[in-house]
Amino acid sequence: MKKIVVITTGGTIAMKADPVSGGLVPAVSGADLMAAVPALSKVADIEVTEYSNVPSGHITPRMMLELAHCIDAQAAAADVAGIVVTHGTDTLEETAFLLDLALRTEKPVCVTGAMRGASDTSGDGPGNILAAVQTAVAESAAGQGVLVVLNNVIHAARDVTKTHAVNTDTFASPWWGPVGYVYDDKVVFRRQSRRQLKIRPQQLDDNVYLLKCAAGDDGFLLRCLIDKKVHGIVVEAFGCGNVPPAVKKAIEAARRAGIPVVLATRVQAGRVVPVYSYEGSAGSMLDSGIIMAGELTGPKARLKLMLALGITQIQAELQSYFAD
Ligand code: ASP
Repeated sequence: MKKIVVITTGGTIAMKADPVSGGLVPAVSGADLMAAVPALSKVADIEVTEYSNVPSGHITPRMMLELAHCIDAQAAAADVAGIVVTHGTDTLEETAFLLDLALRTEKPVCVTGAMRGASDTSGDGPGNILAAVQTAVAESAAGQGVLVVLNNVIHAARDVTKTHAVNTDTFASPWWGPVGYVYDDKVVFRRQSRRQLKIRPQQLDDNVYLLKCAAGDDGFLLRCLIDKKVHGIVVEAFGCGNVPPAVKKAIEAARRAGIPVVLATRVQAGRVVPVYSYEGSAGSMLDSGIIMAGELTGPKARLKLMLALGITQIQAELQSYFAD
């Protein structure tokens, strides 16, 4: 039987109702998580490593990069066939995306979580762990990059996002769709997940901020970031990359101050395209040297900029990472 290392980080999957407050709190150890899934013994030899036991809102980009180094170290062992990471669902797509950019291993790496706690009626954690381990032992999962497995559906880390605050059927890959499905008897891939350009700094630069545009935005928050001398800014613009005129002025001021600015869209899918040239459009800001995020969401573009800034501050080189 193949050996899979399960690295636990926390999240609802490892939470139980607190007897005093009644709310879910971190309570379940890695070993207990595995003990709740007896069917695992028929699928793989499991070794558990606890990285943390925190809600995923407590996970930082630095922790994500440290987790990448930890996964690469575990995956380097010849007898390890793949890795499963358990994680809170709130920021799961961000950790999966950063791992996809930063990992060296070609072995399967599957990230999973749960929408219901370990003490809830019909918790989804055990089934999700089983499906993630089934995926990690599948030959066809190798070289697919980091995969997100919940509700028996397999998504590419690059495309996946959480779409519902509480429903168990929450993860989706808008427009592109999932890459595969986990059946009881086998794992089926219907498409190959696209490989991403790797970015592997030893340290990332987390002095990078994300701002979302809303109608009538007067650029106040952007100017605060310039005053704070941040190292990078990601702006989630309207539509295909358009912002209010006052935000355009603030973006130009950021560029004059030497701050890299990445333009993403606040729309769920599609990319930033400079099809307009009116004041505030992506086209009207090209001369100031904005970097277009392509199809990346704001949070994912922010992580990519943090990793890229860990390697270079040269504008053309930063730009080349986003041309992928
Ligand atoms: N708030 C939880 C977390 O992200 C939600 C979950 O795990 O589903 O840690």
